[in-house]
Amino acid sequence: MQVLFGGTFDPVHNGHVAMAISLSVAFPDATIRVIPNRQPPHRTSRVSSAHRLAMLKLAMDEISGVTVDLIELGRDGPSYTVDTLRSLRAIYGEQESIVLALGADAVRSLESWYQPEQLPSLCHLCVLKRAGERIEIPGLLNQMVEVNRAIDLSETPSGRLYRLDTPEIPVSSTAVRELIARGTSQLPVPPTIADYIGSNHLYQDTE
Ligand code: ATP
Repeated sequence: MQVLFGGTFDPVHNGHVAMAISLSVAFPDATIRVIPNRQPPHRTSRVSSAHRLAMLKLAMDEISGVTVDLIELGRDGPSYTVDTLRSLRAIYGEQESIVLALGADAVRSLESWYQPEQLPSLCHLCVLKRAGERIEIPGLLNQMVEVNRAIDLSETPSGRLYRLDTPEIPVSSTAVRELIARGTSQLPVPPTIADYIGSNHLYQDTE
């Protein structure tokens, strides 16, 4: 079973770490693939991919079952999730259970993704649901079958939807960048990441 958790991780923060831990607990027999994307063309490049990757590895390497996957950093052009899913299908085969884990904001923007209607045939979805939060599932996913247990996703290769209860960690990379630009020393990131950001003088000129 392969579980994918993608993002820009610019920089990785405590929310990302908590989600990766929640996934490794919910899917103890799976490989949890944390996948940094290539910087989308419409975003201003803030730090190099090499820095984003180095921080992500520092934050994720200690979590059981979690691996940082370079599949999108190594591919030219925009990082489309359907392309990543097809590549993993080619490697692991049609019978492998593949789960795409998405936070609430990612679920909301799903309809603007490239070929989102392909998702139900390529993967399961695991929606990271913060305590008490209600998440609307876009209509294009109506054909997915909602299940109540994480283990139900291991029985078939794709097409099911599961809502995973996750802790509320009110932080975003945008907020971290803003805190750094304002000179705040207490950041909601792991200590190793705070040290890395400080010694490499990252994000200090964020507008
Ligand atoms: P930015 O502020 O730059 O948009 P971000 O903090 O949302 O960044 P991303 O790298 O874009 O981080 O997010 C990767 C994934 O992590 C997405 O699925 C997103 O929904 C999820 N995520 C980000 N922050 C949190 C958080 N605090 N709690 C739960 N999920 C999160």
